Amino acid sequence: MLITTFTFRETFRGLRCFPAFGLLSASYRWPRFLSRSSVMNNPIKTCSKCKKTKPVENFHKHKIEKDGLKCWCKECCNKISQKWRRENPKRIRDSAKKYRVSHRGEIIKYSKQYRKSNQEKLKEYSLLYNATHKEEKAANCKTQRAKLKGKLLLRPCGLCGATKDILAHHDDYKNPLAVRWLCRSCHAGLHSILRRKERKIV
Ligand SMILES: [Zn+2]
Ligand SMILES: [Zn+2]
Ligand SMILES: [Zn+2]
Repeated sequence: MLITTFTFRETFRGLRCFPAFGLLSASYRWPRFLSRSSVMNNPIKTCSKCKKTKPVENFHKHKIEKDGLKCWCKECCNKISQKWRRENPKRIRDSAKKYRVSHRGEIIKYSKQYRKSNQEKLKEYSLLYNATHKEEKAANCKTQRAKLKGKLLLRPCGLCGATKDILAHHDDYKNPLAVRWLCRSCHAGLHSILRRKERKIV
């Protein structure tokens, strides 16, 4: 980059600072009102990955680089990060889980707020859900009744052995009394696996 010193000039907004051209040091910080491209002699850059020359807006900012921009264009960076995400789904899930654990309080507070301010929308959504998941709803009602009558006995989670917060999972909603007892978190995990499988088939 070619800028180090500044000159002050009168503008219609008052005295403002403008860059003068010279060699730029790594610790240089851009004034807020200047976009980098507007002060660069040559507002284009060649991506070192795809070798295409593009306007500097196509490059992410990166403090460590001499010119303050990444050496790969946004398109190449996005491709790489998409590839990484495709290849490391477990790491993404793990870090999401870590985040949920460490930000539990915040998440609960936010979802409470959200429910409060979106009551109407959520009501509509639940009506729509019930209308499109009739079979599931009916099966859950039957299971609940059987549970109350003592026909179905609550068991510990079939996957982790937990005894708290146990839910009935149906492999087939047509058979409402054939249930698998799972704790809330194993149940959510199983459904997320099933959803992923379904998505791959579709
Ligand atoms: Zn590129
Ligand atoms: Zn469990
Ligand atoms: Zn289930």
